[in-house]
Amino acid sequence: MVIGGGLAGSEAAWQIANRGIGVTLYEMRPGKQTGAHTGSMLSELVCSNSLGSNLPDRASGLLKEELRRLGSLLISCADVTAVPAGGALAVDRDAFAKCVTEKIDRHPHIRVQRQEQLHVPAETCIVASGPLTSPALSADIRTLLGTEQLFFYDALSPIIYKDSIDMDIAFRASRYQRGDTESGDYINCPLNEAEYNSFVTNLLDAEKIPLRDFEQEIQSGVLAGAHRFFEGCIPVEILAARGRDALAYGPMRPVGLLDPRSGNRPHAVIQLRQDNIADTLYNLVGFQTNLKWGEQRRVLRTVPGMERARFARYGMMHRNTFINSPAVLLPTMQSRVRNNLFFAGQITGVEGYVGNVATGLLAGINAAHLMSGDHCVTLPRDTMSGALCHYVTHADISTFQPMKANFGLMPTLEPPTNGRKKWTKRERYNMYSNRALKSLEPTRKLTSDT
Ligand SMILES: Cc1cc2nc3c(=O)[nH]c(=O)nc-3n(C[C@H](O)[C@H](O)[C@H](O)COP(=O)(O)OP(=O)(O)OC[C@H]3O[C@@H](n4cnc5c(N)ncnc54)[C@H](O)[C@@H]3O)c2cc1C
Repeated sequence: MVIGGGLAGSEAAWQIANRGIGVTLYEMRPGKQTGAHTGSMLSELVCSNSLGSNLPDRASGLLKEELRRLGSLLISCADVTAVPAGGALAVDRDAFAKCVTEKIDRHPHIRVQRQEQLHVPAETCIVASGPLTSPALSADIRTLLGTEQLFFYDALSPIIYKDSIDMDIAFRASRYQRGDTESGDYINCPLNEAEYNSFVTNLLDAEKIPLRDFEQEIQSGVLAGAHRFFEGCIPVEILAARGRDALAYGPMRPVGLLDPRSGNRPHAVIQLRQDNIADTLYNLVGFQTNLKWGEQRRVLRTVPGMERARFARYGMMHRNTFINSPAVLLPTMQSRVRNNLFFAGQITGVEGYVGNVATGLLAGINAAHLMSGDHCVTLPRDTMSGALCHYVTHADISTFQPMKANFGLMPTLEPPTNGRKKWTKRERYNMYSNRALKSLEPTRKLTSDT
C-alpha cells in the first residue's frame, strides 16, 4: 500500500508495480483537498513549475540524471512536458500531472483508491502523504513513531497572466544569457533604486493574512510542535523586514541581467517564469507571500511593467509536516519501528520536488525487494540521491531541518596533487558529478526492474 498520490507516492507505486507486485495507491483528492492542491490529478505540482537545474554539474541536475538512469517515471514525464526555462527543467504542470496520472491509471499492477487513509496499516506500506498530510493520519503517525513531529510554515508565489505584463517596460532575458530561447527565458520587471525603496515600504506596510487556521490546529493538539518558517521558502514580506536590501540581494537580485533599453543593470528585478506550455501564465520567481490577496494586487501593481497585472493565482501560506527522520528512519527509507513501514517524500524532510521523487523511487524499490525476499538497498553516499537519503537519516536530531539537494552533502574530494591548494568550484562540481554517475552504476544494475 502507498499512501499519497503525490510526487513520491506516484513514483513509489510505479517502482513497486514494475517489479511485478500489486500495489494500491491511496489518494484522498478530489474528495478531500489539502488546501494547496487544486485538482484531482496525481503528482500535482503545488507551487513552482520548475524542477530546478537540468545541468549535470549542478546538484539538482545531477539528481535528475541519476533518477533517469534508475528508471524514474516522474522524470521521464517531466522530460516530455518541459517548457523553456534556461538551464532548468520546468514543465507544463497540467501536462506533467496528466502524463503521470495516465501512466499510473493504466498500469496493470496499480489500483488507485481515491480515499483518505486515516491510519498507518500493519501491512507493508509506504507513507508518502506529503507536507500537507491529513490531520487524522498525522496524529496516527505521531502515535506510531512515538516522537514529536515538527511543523513550520511555507508559502506560495503568485501567478499572473502574461498578456497583462507591460512589455514596453519589462524585458526578456535569462541570467548571464544562459537559456533555451534566444530572446531569454524569463520576463524581468526592472526597478530603479527609488522604485525599489518604495516597493519595500509598500510591502512592509501591507496587511497579512492572520494564521488563524494553523494556530487553531496547533492549539487543538493535532499539530503539536514549533511553528516556524522554512528558510528556503520564506515569504518576501518576512525577508524584507530583515533589512531594506534583503530582497535586492535575494529574489530581486539583478546580477547577470541588463535592461536592453538602458544597457544598464537595474537596481532590482522581479523575474517571472513561464508556467504553462500555452505560454499564457507566468509565476513570480521566489516571491512566496502571505499578504491578503487585495494587498498582493495593490503592492505588485506598483512594480514597473506590472501596473495592470491580472492574477491567475495569489500567493498563500501553508502548513508543512515532517517527521524527525534521523531518529526514526533508516537510509533505506524503512522506519526503525517496523521494517515493512517506509516513508518517502517531503514528510521525510527531503525538500524539493526532485528530492521527493528520489525518496519515492528508493522506498518503492525497497518495498518491492522486501516483499520478494531480497535485501533492501541504500544508495551510494557519493551520489546526490544517496547523499540526501543519508543526510535526512543521519542529521543532528535536535536541529533537524528539511534539506534540498546540494553538493555540500557530498563526501569531500581528494585534494589536487599538482601543487595547487584546491579545486575550482567548476572542477569540484564536475568531479562530484562524474564520481556520482560512476558510483551509481552497480546500484543501477542491482535495482533494475528488467
Ligand atoms: C504549498 C507548497 C508549495 C511548495 N512549493 C515547492 C516548490 O515550488 N518547489 C519545490 O521543489 N518544492 C515545493 N514544495 C515542497 C515539496 O517539494 C512538494 O510539496 C512536493 O509535492 C512534495 O511531494 P510529496 O510526494 O512528498 O507530497 P505531495 O506531492 O503533496 O503528495 C502527497 C499526497 O498525499 C495526499 N494525502 C495526504 N494525506 C492523505 C491521506 N491521509 N490519505 C490519502 N492521501 C493523502 C495528498 O492529497 C497529496 O496528493 C512545496 C510544498 C507545498 C506544500
